[in-house]
Amino acid sequence: MKTYEYIVVGGGPAGIFSAIYAGSFGIKTAILEKKNRMGKKILVAGSGQCNITHTGEVKKFLTKYGDHGKFLRTAIYKYSPQDLQSFFKDNGLELVPREDGKVFPITKRSVDVVELLYTLCKKYNIDIIEECKVLSITHKDDFSLNTSLGEFSSKNILLSTGGITFPQTGSNGQGYRFAKTLGHKIVEPKPCLTPIYIRDYPFTELAGISFKDISINIFDANKKISTSNGDILFTHKNLSGPGILDNSRYMKKGNKISLNFINTTLEQFKENFIEYTHIHGKNLTKTFLSTYKLPERFIKNMLFETKICECLKISSLNKKMRDNLGNFLTNYQYEITKLGGIDIGMATNGGINLKEINPKTMESKLVKGLYFAGEIMDIDGDTGGYNIQAAISTGILAARSIAKTK
Ligand SMILES: Cc1cc2nc3c(=O)[nH]c(=O)nc-3n(C[C@H](O)[C@H](O)[C@H](O)COP(=O)(O)OP(=O)(O)OC[C@H]3O[C@@H](n4cnc5c(N)ncnc54)[C@H](O)[C@@H]3O)c2cc1C
Repeated sequence: MKTYEYIVVGGGPAGIFSAIYAGSFGIKTAILEKKNRMGKKILVAGSGQCNITHTGEVKKFLTKYGDHGKFLRTAIYKYSPQDLQSFFKDNGLELVPREDGKVFPITKRSVDVVELLYTLCKKYNIDIIEECKVLSITHKDDFSLNTSLGEFSSKNILLSTGGITFPQTGSNGQGYRFAKTLGHKIVEPKPCLTPIYIRDYPFTELAGISFKDISINIFDANKKISTSNGDILFTHKNLSGPGILDNSRYMKKGNKISLNFINTTLEQFKENFIEYTHIHGKNLTKTFLSTYKLPERFIKNMLFETKICECLKISSLNKKMRDNLGNFLTNYQYEITKLGGIDIGMATNGGINLKEINPKTMESKLVKGLYFAGEIMDIDGDTGGYNIQAAISTGILAARSIAKTK
């Protein structure tokens, strides 16, 4: 039986940062990681470039986690994106923001981030125990961990086993089982930051076309449940882009989604149509549509979908045709047939119920010495570096809380 003061279960960003900070406070710490290397998800993050955080004020940052940002207040105020940038700079790997606010290591290589974290673990004498799969956890005075490499025990443990998506990186939801056995409730996990599939998908031919900052509404049984603005992208098979990915946490099969491609109301569109027809009645319909700066391929596709011949002059369109165009452009509701699954979702919506975790310490409200950090909790951020920052900030908060109890 190996005994530590702090055992971190899961070597993702949450667990590694927590261990490094605990080590820096002189706490005897081990990371148990079931894969042969830690940080497999960091390696795929940001397409291998690692979009590690985002610029901006913490107050705004906290709006990027759906309705759950409030829970992260202490964690992110105490360890902000600026703190993270200073940390990397001090350790020789500068982070640089892109124009869109996403922050990457200057080398644009996730592997450099992981290598640095290994070096720091060594510096603080963290025992990294790889290919060590935790199988079960029990708690009396201390925690006993039964693993593929034998028994471990510790006064404090961190569950940082991640969510359910990209299971090949190691996070496949096992941590929920440990939390459940220790008495915690789990909000059913589902993939998020994922594209959506819609019935009779009309945009296959438009793969690669994107729209910036358009209005997106989501409906559940005809009731609007979310409205926002964002960028969308047509792919061969589905709708994607940040505006779709970020909203996927609110969506489920059977919901409907409407997209306003021209950020103009249907009424305004009709008025514009009438006015334009009055002056330029001999122009082709597509010439009128191009005044909205729509891509040509999109206009062709829309005319096809609304069964309007490209050869028609604007003055020959009847009221029904005009309304069909207006609806297509402003408020047509597409039915969502499914969301992208665990193989493509970049985060998990759901997880350990936040009501049972103290947001000021990350300690369980039910079991003393049990801490949570990162994606295992019912926290998911928008695309743009928000998930890794939340994982790191919560991991560090847990380590600081343990250091205070020493
Ligand atoms: C393709 C992709 C791209 C992404 N890009 C970005 C990005 O650019 N920016 C961003 O902010 N976020 C990104 N994310 C999300 C981000 O990577 C995760 O939110 C983050 O890694 C979560 O950190 P974590 O430490 O909580 O969990 P994880 O990184 O999932 O780590 C959990 C660890 O626990 C280990 N583990 C699980 N079960 C056990 C067990 N029983 N015993 C021992 N070990 C166990 C796993 O092997 C794993 O190493 C991306 C995700 C994906 C899938």
